[in-house]
Amino acid sequence: MVQAFLIKYAEIGIKGKNRYIFENALVRRVQERLLRCEGEFIVEKEQGRIYVEAAGEFDRDEVMEALTHVFGIAHICPVVLVEDKSFDHICEELVAHMREELGDKPFTFKVFAKRSDKNYPMKSPEICVEAGSYIIDHMPNAKVDVHRPGVEVYVEIRARAYVYVTSIKGPGGMPVGTSDRSMLLLSGGIDSPVAGYMMAKRGVRIEAVYFHAPPYTSERAKQKVVDLARIISEYTGPIQLHIVNFTEIQLHIYEKCPHDELTIIMRRYMMRIAQKIAGERHCLSLITGESVGQVASQTMQSLAATAAVCNMPVFRPVIAFDKNEIIELAEKIGTFETSIQPFEDCCTIFVAKHPVTKPAIDKIENSEKLLTDQIDEMVKKAIDQREVLDVHPE
Ligand code: ATP
Ligand code: MG
Repeated sequence: MVQAFLIKYAEIGIKGKNRYIFENALVRRVQERLLRCEGEFIVEKEQGRIYVEAAGEFDRDEVMEALTHVFGIAHICPVVLVEDKSFDHICEELVAHMREELGDKPFTFKVFAKRSDKNYPMKSPEICVEAGSYIIDHMPNAKVDVHRPGVEVYVEIRARAYVYVTSIKGPGGMPVGTSDRSMLLLSGGIDSPVAGYMMAKRGVRIEAVYFHAPPYTSERAKQKVVDLARIISEYTGPIQLHIVNFTEIQLHIYEKCPHDELTIIMRRYMMRIAQKIAGERHCLSLITGESVGQVASQTMQSLAATAAVCNMPVFRPVIAFDKNEIIELAEKIGTFETSIQPFEDCCTIFVAKHPVTKPAIDKIENSEKLLTDQIDEMVKKAIDQREVLDVHPE
């Protein structure tokens, strides 16, 4: 019976002297994720791998589901632990496990053996040959193929023996927390949750900021953003969500500035505010869901005009994605259905019929001079009076 999981990681294996930092972070992320599973688990690292061992009853599907949400994991293998290491006993357990995993469909296989216990009486090549012939003798549906095996059979002799035949792909990437912290501008749309997911996959710890404009935007629109944060928190871990009231600022811009420049000027104010909160929260960068050419505010000139107010890097991981590609990812991570709920966004309420598509930065700067001194107060107030929510995975 499966009592353990072997976790193989890919990229963090090549980090030289700092490797332990990545391994320890991965162990912690796995431990945190398993806290929400039924049962008790011991998580240990050993020679470039991580083992999860269940101390008692557990639900295998639930554990697999949990582990496929932890960045840094390349493969997950459900393992049978064999206490009595006599070779016959290992073979019996192995075949029982193979029957359970593979059923009676015909399959081809190759045995891979690893012997960390150097006192074990058999060497690896001998283990492969003997285990292989035991399998053939006991499983009429099995056939050896050493070149292109359908099933890779692993026998590892350590303090105990470990046998496994199944390997499920993990999400890849790097453990969250190994690449510092970043502030995601999270709207209710399709793109920004995907952007946050992608950066977290590279090990970045995410916080998020959402701008709303009550009463022009509803409580439902806000709830949708909280829901999106919760969905991506399944991957990113808990997210602190900063909800900023943008109404006063938007109305002031609407009143004073040329209407075809509204979106750009509003976006510049969003960036300024996001950056301020990011600084307070020790975030080193901003993340947006912008994609070149998608809308008027995402032409090269518009992106330049928004980026001009930022002094920290702005990451736009979906910048070169087609909408279809972003949607595909949104479906995969489970945000799409929520993103397409039809609630108004604060940007869409005040948009002009014909927004500028090639804003010149100096012209935008001049238009911003039309705003009164009160705008700085309004920005400060919006930041000071923001609502902060701790969003946790379910
Ligand atoms: P999305 O689908 O992510 O909402 P979009 O296609 O609607 O993107 P825009 O509305 O131009 O594009 O927004 C571009 C980016 O600006 C968003 O991906 C997001 O990062 C940020 N953004 C836009 N509106 C808001 C908002 N109300 N609160 C926080 N961030 C926002
Ligand atoms: Mg949007």
